[in-house]
Amino acid sequence: MRLIFLGPPGAGKGTQAKLLTERYGIPQLSTGDMLRAAVAQATEVGKRAKAVMDAGQLVSDEIVNEIVSDRIDQPDCAKGFILDGYPRTVPQAIALGKMLEGKGLKLDAVIELKVDEAALVKRMENRVAETIAAGGTVRSDDNPEAFKRRLTEYREKTAPLSEHYAGTGQLRTVDGMADVNTVTAEIEKILA
Ligand code: ADP
Repeated sequence: MRLIFLGPPGAGKGTQAKLLTERYGIPQLSTGDMLRAAVAQATEVGKRAKAVMDAGQLVSDEIVNEIVSDRIDQPDCAKGFILDGYPRTVPQAIALGKMLEGKGLKLDAVIELKVDEAALVKRMENRVAETIAAGGTVRSDDNPEAFKRRLTEYREKTAPLSEHYAGTGQLRTVDGMADVNTVTAEIEKILA
């Protein structure tokens, strides 16, 4: 099973991807998590990506395409994977298509979580409050300014992906405003 999750920051892609990971025994490939790990380890990629990420802007297509291509080749992806946060631009989607074709792989579905923009800022604020209450470290891009920028980047660069995948006939849309379990049930209906 090879899936892509689309949706704005805070739409719940990560939450749903984690649940499906357990159900299907396939890994969640979050480019955000991979980039944050590279930043934490201060790798070359991490050093290049940090300032861009902190400002809420997108890391270059070249960097993320390479990270994803390498990750898909790992043995734990043999049965499939869930892409969360990638592709995020139309050029990334085109690169992914070529990458998969080159590896002899096909996508099963592209699932878009639709969420009202007004709810997204609230969700980010809740995530920050929960992280602080749990004694965790708040993401350096989870602040109102960077979050606004992330939403703008989403609108300008990522939202056009819906049309791209509608065109390929792979797009499935789910109401991301429903509660977590309802969203999961809707996704499972699509995948059944
Ligand atoms: P969100 O919670 O907004 O969905 P992520 O954790 O997926 O955010 O990503 C955090 C940041 O990492 C993004 O704002 C961006 O700077 C960078 N990033 C993640 N995935 C990509 C990608 N596919 N292309 C470019 N930049 C990316």
